[in-house]
Amino acid sequence: MNSQRPIYLDCNATTPVAPEVMAAMLPFFTEYFGNPSSLSHAYGWEAEAGVKKAREILAGAIAAEPSEIIFTSGATEANNLAIKGVAEAYMSEGKHIITVQTEHSAVLEPCRYLERLGFSVTYLPVQPDGLIDLQDLENAFRDDTILVSIMAANNEIGVLQPIEQIGARCRDRNIIFHTDAAQALGKIPLNVQTMHIDLLSMTAHKLYGPKGIGALYVRRKNPRVQLAPQIHGGGQERGLRSGTLYTPQIVGFGEAVRIVIDEMESEVNRIGELRDRLWAQLSELPGIHLNGHSTQRLANNLNVSIEGVDGNALLSGLRGAIALSSVSACSTTNPKPSHVIKALGRSNELAKATLRFGLGRDTCEKDVLKTVKVVSDGIRAARLNQGNQRPFRKIRQDNYDD
Ligand SMILES: *Cc1c(COP(=O)(O)O)cnc(C)c1O
Repeated sequence: MNSQRPIYLDCNATTPVAPEVMAAMLPFFTEYFGNPSSLSHAYGWEAEAGVKKAREILAGAIAAEPSEIIFTSGATEANNLAIKGVAEAYMSEGKHIITVQTEHSAVLEPCRYLERLGFSVTYLPVQPDGLIDLQDLENAFRDDTILVSIMAANNEIGVLQPIEQIGARCRDRNIIFHTDAAQALGKIPLNVQTMHIDLLSMTAHKLYGPKGIGALYVRRKNPRVQLAPQIHGGGQERGLRSGTLYTPQIVGFGEAVRIVIDEMESEVNRIGELRDRLWAQLSELPGIHLNGHSTQRLANNLNVSIEGVDGNALLSGLRGAIALSSVSACSTTNPKPSHVIKALGRSNELAKATLRFGLGRDTCEKDVLKTVKVVSDGIRAARLNQGNQRPFRKIRQDNYDD
């Protein structure tokens, strides 16, 4: 058995828990095990102190108030609470929602669910570089629009939407603006005031925190956003999300955010340079296309489509050496071409032959060099295997060219 594990390049799917985060969490499993809502004794106070600190760190990271942070089980739940919570609270004012075709399924599926309940949803297209056209957004606004949900950073192609401009346009019209910032938090500066964000979804496990914990920022003033709770019970989190707080995970989330914000500038530079080097070398290969805008994107993300290869065959050829994915981890049970890559205008064939590289804190120069070699060899091998039937040069003509 080969004891060496592949190089991990799937940091847009999840990240390991940082040792400092683990250390911060541990005492909250055993020693400080109290229920943070039990305020009649010291056990409750200790746990509450841990939660309070984490809440302050999260709020500070996005220029919010601690009381505006609602802990959830992750970004999926935060998105559900934001979208279904607004829909239910504001349906007397209108039943129209605007979102984007390239959103995560944790936004698209709540929207589809609401459509079945009688809401109408506009799914904005994106341009070939993955960015929305602000004019399309302007054209989509209706008198009965109650919510705009547009992600800050895309989980497949890393593209950064113009959040501040979107927020300003929503604020002008008094329309609530939600952004899924699961990928963006800790990688780009986020400020709910200057960006006019009313609801913002976060998750810990994309930034070296534990899985199963996330949060929703809910604006309390200018304007005060109403939400219908989706989980009813003991009334924790201002009644918006009942259930005993998962103290160790919350403490870990806080510590993970503290570190990632602290190191953001230097890490973005370091990882961005590695990513640029990876693309500089891979772009030399024939028939390889970059997916998503070349600069308006997360520093840690590279997404490419490759002509003349079968995506699954390529991926299985690579996985002994490098761990990456072709589509969002959340939809790999469903081997359809990525809806994100399709939305860029790519053919089915190219969309299926897609590789997403997610670099992270542990990625070093050596990893990049090895990745270039492994991927180049892998593409060559995959093309040799099928070259007779499908010469890639020929396919090239039919595909959108970047
Ligand atoms: C990972 C991710 C999610 C889901 O977050 P969970 O915490 O795993 O539920 C939602 N949106 C985006 C953009 C993501 O990257």
